Amino acid sequence: MKFSFKGGIHPLKEMHEGKGASRHQPIRDLVPETVSIPMDMHIGAPSAPCVQKGDRVLLGQVIATPVGGIGIPVHASVSGEVTGIEVRQLLNKQPSTCINITNDKLDEWAPLHPLGGVETAPADRIIQQVKDAGICGMGGACFPTHIKMSPPADKPVDTVILNGAECETFLTADHQLLLEQPGLVVDGLRAIMRGMGVTRGIIAIEDNKMDAVKAVREAAQGREGVSVAVLRTKYPQGGEKQLIEAITKRQVPSGGLPCDVGVAVFNVGTAAAVAEAVSLGKPLISRVTTVTGAVNKPSNLRLRIGTSFQAAIDEAGGTSEEPGKVFAGGSMTGIAAPNTGVSVTKANNGVVVLGQKDAVTPEPTPCIRCGRCVSACPAKLNPQRLKELCDMGNLAGAKKEHVMECIICASCSYVCPAKLELSPTFKEAKEKITARRI
Ligand code: SF4
Ligand code: SF4
Repeated sequence: MKFSFKGGIHPLKEMHEGKGASRHQPIRDLVPETVSIPMDMHIGAPSAPCVQKGDRVLLGQVIATPVGGIGIPVHASVSGEVTGIEVRQLLNKQPSTCINITNDKLDEWAPLHPLGGVETAPADRIIQQVKDAGICGMGGACFPTHIKMSPPADKPVDTVILNGAECETFLTADHQLLLEQPGLVVDGLRAIMRGMGVTRGIIAIEDNKMDAVKAVREAAQGREGVSVAVLRTKYPQGGEKQLIEAITKRQVPSGGLPCDVGVAVFNVGTAAAVAEAVSLGKPLISRVTTVTGAVNKPSNLRLRIGTSFQAAIDEAGGTSEEPGKVFAGGSMTGIAAPNTGVSVTKANNGVVVLGQKDAVTPEPTPCIRCGRCVSACPAKLNPQRLKELCDMGNLAGAKKEHVMECIICASCSYVCPAKLELSPTFKEAKEKITARRI
């Protein structure tokens, strides 16, 4: 049986999907000369630096401490000397304090404190271990994982889903992780289940990655409560609400969270990080990222947090043509980087270079009321009507038409024959509605 949801699109043709160039490329490590590690990589208050310029730091050493109720620490991703603490521009163009470290290439680890095997570690200490390791959602959401593992008492979770759909265009990092380290991902799921006291765990993978399904099924054999669900390949199959509905038939209520329907969803990369934190005591200092598009050697790279996009692009053979745009993430939901000096963060699953021709935004024409955007919307919205309201500046009306339910998946923009900028309009509208408390 294959699971799916209503709406969505099929960017399956290779030219649109863009996964072919990096698919099955073995994960390679990039050890950079320098890193610039942002304090603002997760949802919640930025972490506070606890080192100073000139300090020598060890790999995995805490260099910034959590601030506020949902904060997490930040760790050194190389050993070496702190050469500066400065405010730099992040991907979202916001300024953030960054700690710059010059790598001494010794990779000398700070003392690690493993809890034990994922099946034997004390269950009541797993969530704190995850927090201490600085883990947040690595699928792009950046939500601190220990908070997600601690739902309110009146919203008990009975199912943990690992999201291995990787439905975004261009990205193959999760696919390769599942192929190379399926046991680590299953270990991470078991650690999360034990930490949360949940007995059912499901690893969800699209049917364009059947080799990963096979590898994970083998790794999951004999593991208590763990199964694999095969999803029909469709975008945005990896959207949290779409995934939950496809697998459990439960609908997350409007404005609600997965825990409202007894589910918690984690990315497969996050699960791998949890396994390493529990069994090895390793904090989150690197992640697998796809570097592809107009580069000479499309790759899946294990990048230290704080590596510059430029270093990642260089490791992927450099650009193959004059770049027009560089995205963090895939082409549907990725964020255009302001420059290639920006740092790889914990949530950064892709660095995608588009040539100048591909980066051109087509000229929009008037809406022809074809209704394709309505059929494509996985959130069951009317994007055409929402666009009209937003263009008129009627944000209250857009809110009434449920614009806040928009998951900014860009399916509507993708299918629109008039090439209207639908999803960017809704993103802006949501931000204004939140900021103005409409
Ligand atoms: S897909 Fe584009 S042209 Fe068609 S109804 Fe929607 S907004 Fe209008
Ligand atoms: S961007 Fe929003 S409105 Fe457009 S298809 Fe996705 S959820 Fe629907």
